[in-house]
Amino acid sequence: MSGGPTTDGIERVLADAATVARQHVPDRDGWCVGCLQVWGRLVSYPCTQAEWAAAVFAAPDLGGRSDHDPPGPAGPGQAL
Ligand SMILES: [Zn+2]
Repeated sequence: MSGGPTTDGIERVLADAATVARQHVPDRDGWCVGCLQVWGRLVSYPCTQAEWAAAVFAAPDLGGRSDHDPPGPAGPGQAL
């Protein structure tokens, strides 16, 4: 256990966001695949999870790190 600095928390958030971004993607009908798989719910994309992940990657303190590329296939503004 590292009683580490805040960067440890940031790494965890980034890892969680990366997982969420991979799972929560739109299917061909516009439903969120991740929400359907995890909770069995039909949720229109972007869902809350996907929006959170996008916000994490968009945050200057988090997304500016070159060693973490947002894995999401959907570009910003795609749904708008
Ligand atoms: Zn979702």
